[in-house]
Amino acid sequence: MTPPFEIIIIGGGCAGLSLAMRLSKFPEEKKVLIVESRSEYRNDRTWCFWGNDSAQMRHLVSHRWESVSLQTPDRKVKVDCRTAPYEMISAETFYSAALQQISQNPCIELATGTALSSEPWKDGNLWRIETSDGQRSGRILIDTRPSLPVHAGEAVLWQSFLGQEIECDASAFDPTSASLMKFLSIEDGRIPFVYVLPFSARRALVEFTVFSPVPLVPDELSQGLELGITAEVGSAKYSVRRTEHGILPMGLTKPTLRAEASSVRVGVSSGGARPSSGFAFQRIQRWAEACAEALLAGEGPVAHTPDSWSLSAMDNLFLRVLRSRPELSPNLYLSLFGVKNPHSLIRFMSDQSTLADCASVALSLPPWPFIAEIPNFLLGRSYKIAGGLST
Ligand SMILES: Cc1cc2nc3c(=O)[nH]c(=O)nc-3n(C[C@H](O)[C@H](O)[C@H](O)COP(=O)(O)OP(=O)(O)OC[C@H]3O[C@@H](n4cnc5c(N)ncnc54)[C@H](O)[C@@H]3O)c2cc1C
Repeated sequence: MTPPFEIIIIGGGCAGLSLAMRLSKFPEEKKVLIVESRSEYRNDRTWCFWGNDSAQMRHLVSHRWESVSLQTPDRKVKVDCRTAPYEMISAETFYSAALQQISQNPCIELATGTALSSEPWKDGNLWRIETSDGQRSGRILIDTRPSLPVHAGEAVLWQSFLGQEIECDASAFDPTSASLMKFLSIEDGRIPFVYVLPFSARRALVEFTVFSPVPLVPDELSQGLELGITAEVGSAKYSVRRTEHGILPMGLTKPTLRAEASSVRVGVSSGGARPSSGFAFQRIQRWAEACAEALLAGEGPVAHTPDSWSLSAMDNLFLRVLRSRPELSPNLYLSLFGVKNPHSLIRFMSDQSTLADCASVALSLPPWPFIAEIPNFLLGRSYKIAGGLST
């Protein structure tokens, strides 16, 4: 049987590879195994974040926008974000940088095309896993698998999106500004909008996104995407370079469990995603930094740091208002981004807010919908589970 590893990481996606990159500084005799079910890495997503001082991996950024906008059919808010631009890393750049760095340490083994076939179990002081390539064991287990299938009641709202990177035969985009939310009509508790990342006047990623109590599969989003692209490009002809789809939890309703001091569950379904936005890339980087530091110091693995009480209360209340009064959401978002000092909002969205930032964000919003939701929030009233979904 293969000798035990010091650390087993299940899942070589954003969280698994981010940790492994930091662990490439691990002393040679400590062996690390990453078990990854996919056989090859594809350019399957783009990661955006605000490029402020706390942001990591900025050397991999391929595009940045110094202004962003949000709009409804009759109102537009444009935010100048030159001091903390909206930045993008493409998955292919990240994966190749991670694989290159990991390959420099012969003690880190990346087993692609290898899936976990049952749940890990503890055997004495070792974790054992059964994989498609046989049994493996390790002293520390870091599980980054997303929870699949996802079930509606596991999050207050779900952010489902389908996007295509397109190339037009004529100019159709303003490459100086990213369009974060172009709101469409709200129906059946669903909040739909189009997100556009323009890379040039002819090339952009256009994404049709829906916040809703139930997660949505690509088929349910494809018509919205087609209409969204047509509205963006008008009569220009276009070709599709690649497609991406995601379902992100917004406000998990179940706490994430840490089974043992020698094992931890992390990633987008385990506290890695910011509840009010679903954004996870920078939170995962901060976790990877902290976890690698703990492991390099000979301590146990660490989970994602829980949000402060104030941040988590604000996110929770905001999501509850979106869910109970979806028709208000376009104006709530436009009020948020219309805040006098957008840097307060950017720090708030990047988990770096001070109390003054929280106050400034709260004051930018109309109070009544939030006041009306406070009794439900304080009583912890949960939402009726609307059904499930398998992906
Ligand atoms: C299309 C898309 C766009 C996104 N855009 C942004 C963005 O702009 N900004 C932002 O902050 N966040 C964004 N996110 C959210 C988040 O940052 C990503 O989902 C991120 O990849 C989460 O990292 P993770 O490690 O938790 O999950 P993943 O990156 O999905 O990694 C999990 C890994 O586990 C592997 N795995 C699963 N099951 C098994 C098994 N049984 N055995 C072995 N391996 C297994 C998977 O193959 C995968 O590689 C986006 C997500 C998606 C899907």
